[in-house]
Amino acid sequence: MLHRTRFILLSGLVLCLAPVALSRQHPSLAQREEGFEKRAEKEIYRSPGELKAQDEAELRQGMKYLKLIKGDPTSKEIALTFDDGPHQHWTKQLLNLLRANHVRATFFVVGKMAERYPNLIRQELADGHQLANHTYHHVNLTNIPANEVASEYRMCDEAIHRITGRHMSYCRPPGGQYDHDVIQTTEKLGLTTVLWTEDPGDYAKPGDGVIQKRLMHCGHNGAIILLHDGIQQTLDVLPGMIKALRQKGYRFVTIDQMHHELATKLAQMSRSSESGRRAR
Ligand SMILES: [Zn+2]
Repeated sequence: MLHRTRFILLSGLVLCLAPVALSRQHPSLAQREEGFEKRAEKEIYRSPGELKAQDEAELRQGMKYLKLIKGDPTSKEIALTFDDGPHQHWTKQLLNLLRANHVRATFFVVGKMAERYPNLIRQELADGHQLANHTYHHVNLTNIPANEVASEYRMCDEAIHRITGRHMSYCRPPGGQYDHDVIQTTEKLGLTTVLWTEDPGDYAKPGDGVIQKRLMHCGHNGAIILLHDGIQQTLDVLPGMIKALRQKGYRFVTIDQMHHELATKLAQMSRSSESGRRAR
């Protein structure tokens, strides 16, 4: 609390004394408009280990956020998630591949890209995939003020609503970069933040062999796999990976299916422990 008060006082001081410095610190809307694809390529991703550690620290502090970091650990289900699209040259191939393999996935779409390629967004939905919010400009949300965090998510949602007539309930902060302020703002918009348990690092294009090797270790109950729309190497290795995971008995689900099943399971568990207590 003290820390936060100090932060507010300091922020006020900075606002009064150095508006120029502040505007340099926070990328303006015009700066966010510029080169966001390049920025997406250079994104620094938080590792699954870091995300787990942050989750555990939040729980220790009694913070319970609207957040999904993994699915049901007792269920052989996996969610494939594809970030940063749609892309003119890649999304169609990815959709064809998923259709041929009867896999439904979740697309964390960038609002600006959705506006460029609305037909691909419609096709994602028509194929039974889930659309989720990945901001309008693909920006690190911990670097911008709360009102702009809200506008990044709102603008993306409005773009998708204009194209599909639907709103999105799930979101992912670019790079997995979030803090208390970001997630509080996100919750006020009614969005559940989705992170990941597996990151084969396809965005860095390390080569088919490397991605394939890393993906082979992604078979865990309730895994959420971070992948990207727009990477040839991902398209190359995906069919083999889907086949291998199916052979191990995994099924592929969308994020809302995974979340719904987890919530149902938790509700059942709490009901049975409640009736167990009453029986005693
Ligand atoms: Zn991204």
